[in-house]
Amino acid sequence: MKIEMRTPLVEMDGDEMTRVLWGWIKEILIAPYVALKTEYYDLGLVRRDETEDAVTEQSALAAKRYGVAVKCATITPNEERRKEYSLKRLWKSPNGTIRRILDGTVFRAPILCEGIRPYIPTWKKPIVLARHAYGDVYSAVEALAGEGEEVYLVSEREGKETSRLLVHGFDGAGMVQAMHNTERSVRSFAHACMRYALDEGLPVMFAAKDTVSKVYDGRFKEIVCGVFEEYRAAFEERGLTFLYTLIDDAVARMVRSEGGILWACKNYDGDVMSDMVATAYGSLGMMTSVLVSPDGVYEYEAAHGTVTRHYRKYLAGEETSTNPVATIFAWTGALAKRGELDGLPALTAFAKRLERATISVIGEGRMTGDLIPLFRREGVQPVKLESREFLRAVAERL
Ligand code: NAP
Ligand code: MG
Repeated sequence: MKIEMRTPLVEMDGDEMTRVLWGWIKEILIAPYVALKTEYYDLGLVRRDETEDAVTEQSALAAKRYGVAVKCATITPNEERRKEYSLKRLWKSPNGTIRRILDGTVFRAPILCEGIRPYIPTWKKPIVLARHAYGDVYSAVEALAGEGEEVYLVSEREGKETSRLLVHGFDGAGMVQAMHNTERSVRSFAHACMRYALDEGLPVMFAAKDTVSKVYDGRFKEIVCGVFEEYRAAFEERGLTFLYTLIDDAVARMVRSEGGILWACKNYDGDVMSDMVATAYGSLGMMTSVLVSPDGVYEYEAAHGTVTRHYRKYLAGEETSTNPVATIFAWTGALAKRGELDGLPALTAFAKRLERATISVIGEGRMTGDLIPLFRREGVQPVKLESREFLRAVAERL
């Protein structure tokens, strides 16, 4: 008897090696146990080009309708890819398009296994990083300034000047930059963080630099702390804490911590710190990612890309040892959430069982090649498996 589903998952297929893994994961780890219901969207680059990228938007709208999606890694085309795939245009990043439509916050969390040691030995639990992915330096305007120039920040309403601030009077060459954010976006980021923390039972740390940036970061801080007040009672009930601190203090606290924290970051801090955290925990193949929208839509994926280098080997007929763990966890995250929303405990329990089986196979010393150099466990000699062998080992354990 397979486990029944009620509402379909929105399935967003992707590209290259991860597309291959996608098929194997479904075949070996999911279809034998679950009467899988999905609404399928092919976000592979070929299909995106055929549909003039309409398929990406359609998939995001479907995610909005159903509430839970699972996404495979996809190519964000550049000039090389345009030639390789004879594209009609350089389509935008699918993740960017989906994020714009769902207006979400991205949470990244490492998957910890016995034997895989983080570079920071005190990190016993995952640090989940939430990056506010709107505005700041990513949509700044900037210019070079010349000697003798005075640069102003001017605001107008209906053509009439409302304020004028001198940025700098240059007595030599220099540069200037202006950036923005919106209260609405910061507020929705804060709500997503609080909701995620309550879902996962994590304390929250949010940091900015409001001592230096009194207006910009000051407002940012006020909004996030204000949103927390709406959740204070729920946090207290769960025994969870919320801390605002300066970004440099947050970095120091994080290194000294044992993990088990949701770290809410401004855009640039999140960009830089997510790479630091991912690397310090070990491998990109062990980092999951979920986009949570303010109205409660969840889109699960692996944090890594399509693993092009492995795909070329695969096309040449070689077996590859690409790590499928983050993609397995994208599926389990989505199935567990679907089970929770639809009141299907058997589905959620299956997802958790599959996660435990995956982690224990690695703990027992069977893993893909990327993890071998990271593995240290007394009395266990790690064995390298090809992707499909690894998936079969997990199925056996399951
Ligand atoms: P990548 O696919 O993440 O791979 C970079 C390297 O990291 C790989 O060559 C591999 O190292 C290692 N790696 C990543 N995931 C792995 C896994 N699961 N198992 C084993 N090793 C893994 O990044 P990329 O090569 O820069 O990008 C490839 C394509 O992915 C690009 O077209 C990009 O647009 C796209 N991309 C998509 C997403 C997304 O959809 N979320 C995110 C990032 C990139 P070794 O080669 O040393 O084994
Ligand atoms: Mg980065």
